[in-house]
Amino acid sequence: MHAGETPGFATLAIRTGHHRTPEGEHCEPIYTTSSFVFASAAEAAARFGGDEAGNIYSRFTNPTVRAFEERLAALEGGERCVATASGMAAILATCLGSLRAGDHIVSSRAIFGSTTVLFNKYLARFGVETSYVDLADLDAWAAAIRPNTRLLFLETPSNPLTEMADIRILADLAHHHGCPLAVDNCFCTPALQRPLALGADLVIHSATKYLDGQGRCLGGAVVGDAQRVGEEVFGVIRTAGPTMSPFNAWIFLKGLETLELRMLAHARAAQALAEWLVDQPAVTRVHYPGLASHPQHALVGPQQRTGGGIVAFEVEGGREAAWRVIDATRLLSITANLGDTKTTITHPATTTHGRLSPAERAAAGIGEGLIRIAVGLEDLGDIQADLARGFARG
Ligand SMILES: *Cc1c(COP(=O)(O)O)cnc(C)c1O
Repeated sequence: MHAGETPGFATLAIRTGHHRTPEGEHCEPIYTTSSFVFASAAEAAARFGGDEAGNIYSRFTNPTVRAFEERLAALEGGERCVATASGMAAILATCLGSLRAGDHIVSSRAIFGSTTVLFNKYLARFGVETSYVDLADLDAWAAAIRPNTRLLFLETPSNPLTEMADIRILADLAHHHGCPLAVDNCFCTPALQRPLALGADLVIHSATKYLDGQGRCLGGAVVGDAQRVGEEVFGVIRTAGPTMSPFNAWIFLKGLETLELRMLAHARAAQALAEWLVDQPAVTRVHYPGLASHPQHALVGPQQRTGGGIVAFEVEGGREAAWRVIDATRLLSITANLGDTKTTITHPATTTHGRLSPAERAAAGIGEGLIRIAVGLEDLGDIQADLARGFARG
């Protein structure tokens, strides 16, 4: 329970960002308007000139989107948040806002597949180079930094093996070299992990996942200080236009209201499922931060409030055995998406990581027998029964 001067997390998640209009509405309104009307030519000039705050055009100023931005900024403990059309748009806007030709990124290797393509195929075309290191190898991070390194980028925990980075140590390393650390906080959300409080400079979200929480729409966000986010990222969104729609912002506002409840429930179920998987004879290995066997288990607590909602495990018999488990399910959804009340199951080696060469997959530790589950909020016994059917056939 929370009591004190400043509101607690749940209160911020439910109350922040809604500035009630004279209509007296209780729920946040959706402003579906492309532009806004000015009282006079002088007011229009003042708004466009930046002398007066206020709405202009929904590519960069919309009250529903702003309500979402204020709420997420409060939850992450950041000065400013800029909402984007998708998680990828958030990463793109962060890079376009702060990097130029000749700059260098150091990134953890196990990041979202499209992020790798963005760095390797598109940013490279504009003269920005990326080096990849193992997430948990602190020496490798230090060794990869060059004089022209302008960004450290990571996801923790990683997908699908749930490896974790020590955010505080990597933030210190980044600052020692005068560059910012960006953390993709999609897997934990601020309900479980607040990277800015640990020293990170930028937090990136795919709101598509847990912030929505029910698989309804795409969105993203960047949170950080007034300069990096309020000026640099905002400038990209304003100019280039990968903007969040007001309707989607409203969905995410509603999602944030139950975020903490949902994340704790996802994590409780994932912990129980991971412990159950350890006991299954067909399962050879379980990857979950909440297990004492996890290499960075000590970070659960100080850095990350729980083990999170994602569990990966390996079955004996390679692809054939893994596909048999997946195909025997009747309840679980076979989809690579995650962060939904509905439990999802996927075979990383042939889906999310299918574009990697076999050697790259082996280096990343993604075997043919690996299965990833994003644990939803159905009854745990039903999820277990659905998996047990596939194990029994093995
Ligand atoms: C899904 C995802 C993204 C990309 O988000 P979209 O909303 O699909 O564009 C980025 N990072 C992580 C960790 C993700 O899971």
